[in-house]
Amino acid sequence: MENIVIIGTGPAGLTAAIYCARANLNPLVIEGIQPGGQLTTTTEVENFPGFPEGIDGTTLVMKMREQAERFGTRFQSGEVTTVDFSRRPLSLTLDEGQKIEATVVIVATGARARYLGIASEKTLIGRGVSGCATCDGALYRDVPVAVVGGGDTAMEDALFLTRFASHVTLIHRRHEFRASKIMVDRVVAHPKIEIVWDSVVEEVLDVARQEVTGLRLKNVKTGALSEIKVAGLFVAIGHEPNTKPFKGVLNMNEQGYLLTENTRTQIEGVFAAGDVQDAVYRQAATAAGSGCMAALEAERYLGRIGHG
Ligand code: NDP
Repeated sequence: MENIVIIGTGPAGLTAAIYCARANLNPLVIEGIQPGGQLTTTTEVENFPGFPEGIDGTTLVMKMREQAERFGTRFQSGEVTTVDFSRRPLSLTLDEGQKIEATVVIVATGARARYLGIASEKTLIGRGVSGCATCDGALYRDVPVAVVGGGDTAMEDALFLTRFASHVTLIHRRHEFRASKIMVDRVVAHPKIEIVWDSVVEEVLDVARQEVTGLRLKNVKTGALSEIKVAGLFVAIGHEPNTKPFKGVLNMNEQGYLLTENTRTQIEGVFAAGDVQDAVYRQAATAAGSGCMAALEAERYLGRIGHG
């Protein structure tokens, strides 16, 4: 029987672990399918406070992990596949069938950027293909880049990238954006942004060189193919929270993000932190902040029920 189980090893889960371990709550962390979370898919992180020279994403989460271990956090590999939060203790089942019981669970399973799903894109993720303009945009100074998508994220990313890139091509599969009018107006008026309508990315070039040099586009109306030269491709076609095991158990919105109030879910003793409950900010710093909040809430809850 565990006191606190934290699911996820991104900045939210690891910050929660640091706080819980320092409070002598002996947390167990389940590593999840992508140990280290989304930060491991980015290269340089320049906006996490405390690292003025920037830090590699994987190194940053490794440092957080070391810090959690220093105070006695235990780690277990595995993916949580089902949960039973309908009775006490709370119960979790891992992919290999192992069951874990706990008084408190902190869900920090994160989200993943949706990608286009083409082979060349997959090969070049982290080598010019990115799912996060705020994370990686500043690495593309004075070079042309492209953004795919027609929602608010794509608009925000395109505008953000104009601060660095020499030119931003915004590629959308239809002739109408779904983004809010104010964002669309800014994008349309921006001299550095060019919009390519009715088009999809057929191939990211150049897999042989292991870097992005351009894109092969296809006009979905005419079938015409064209190529553009870019040094980076930012895929902004939405995110998916990793909430599958919690469907029907924890309250979530229509996109699957967990609904929380100060990290508390609707079930006593179950907290959520980081991107799994945040569709808006999605930053390492905000994830770490909410991980801290969840740990403090968990500590208070344990105190209230006479544990810990
Ligand atoms: P959305 O789901 O709103 O938009 C996704 C976009 O990607 C759509 O234009 C969609 O095209 C396109 N798309 C989806 N799949 C593919 C594909 N396989 N190939 C090509 N294009 C594809 O996601 P967002 O991340 O933009 O926004 C999510 C939520 O967050 C929204 O509610 C948004 O308003 C909100 N948000 C708000 C912000 C703000 O207010 N500042 C900033 C960022 C997000 P199609 O239109 O044809 O379906």
